[in-house]
Amino acid sequence: MKKISKTLRTVIECTLVVLIGGLLISLINHIPTEKEPEVKNIIFMIGDGMGISHITATMIEQDYAPLALERAEYIGLQKTYSANNLITDSAAAGTALAAGTKTYNGAIGVDSDKQPVENIREVAERLGMATGVVATYAVTHATPASFVGHVESRHDQDRIAKQFLDSDIDVFFGGGQKFFSQRADSLDLVAKLQEKGYTMSTSLEGLADVHSGKAGILAARKGLPSILKGRDTFLPDATTKALEILTANAKAAKSGFFLMVEGSQIDGEAHGNNLEGVVAEILDFDAAVKIAFDYADTHPGTLVVVTADHETGGLTIINNNNRFDVAQNPYEYHFSTGGHSGGMVPIFAYGAGADAFSRVLENTDIPTIMKSLLTE
Ligand SMILES: [Zn+2]
Repeated sequence: MKKISKTLRTVIECTLVVLIGGLLISLINHIPTEKEPEVKNIIFMIGDGMGISHITATMIEQDYAPLALERAEYIGLQKTYSANNLITDSAAAGTALAAGTKTYNGAIGVDSDKQPVENIREVAERLGMATGVVATYAVTHATPASFVGHVESRHDQDRIAKQFLDSDIDVFFGGGQKFFSQRADSLDLVAKLQEKGYTMSTSLEGLADVHSGKAGILAARKGLPSILKGRDTFLPDATTKALEILTANAKAAKSGFFLMVEGSQIDGEAHGNNLEGVVAEILDFDAAVKIAFDYADTHPGTLVVVTADHETGGLTIINNNNRFDVAQNPYEYHFSTGGHSGGMVPIFAYGAGADAFSRVLENTDIPTIMKSLLTE
């Protein structure tokens, strides 16, 4: 009897030791470590000219097979007007989205007084982050230019190209050879970029062995061809490559990264009122969105914001009989202009900090919120 109770006592003692030990380990694990910023990486995706009707038309043409951007957790709207026009151009809209400043149509990275304004990529660079831009028109074209350059006129693409050389951007993938190596001043900016340490290529294949460091792709004299004319998967592939290099560079610098990806040619197809082209360009852009969302899934602290700079073409989806009689032509696509329109455009946000974009915003609010997420 005495022996049994001694064994029981030992068992109870051992159990208590294990329980208290477990409790201590669990307490230690729950002591909060130094707070890290919620948002470490930002992928900012801009479908140039991509309005809600363009996205809807793409859904219809795909029989409502879900688009990647439908995975977005928070949806907002933004007002696109510029400082001098209800109907913005891509330069003023690009500057608003990049620098948080409304400016006049045609301005790249300068305010209404033609003074340079710091853009969100430059903010990230100043914070020691890796940065990049990906586009399918020239990298000196309005949208990517707004994340790098500061010029009074979007047409000054030679000067914008020179500002790539003056920046500390890690990767820039798109077209625009003309503005780097066939310039009015005969400067060879490709050679100068190589001297500065950039691996320069005219194709994605040329960077197959490059996994970190500084790199540029100028894959066309100006813009790459449209999807309908054979561009193939350049945009999603360039997005994957940019993410690979930026991830490596950010890791080496113990920082995060900022990447802007533009679906550049949705706009061109909408200017041409070509619905088939619009749908093809949105599907291509959506393939890049999928890559960004998947990256955010596997890299906590990554924010993805997908939006447009303005709507192009005034696209509506109509049934041209007022009795809504489906026995007749059930629906048709109608473009009301060859230019831009003034409607609000959607915002799709995903990942860390995405909830901040679930509102009606000014276009200028977007980089302002991004800046606060990176610095707070
Ligand atoms: Zn645009």
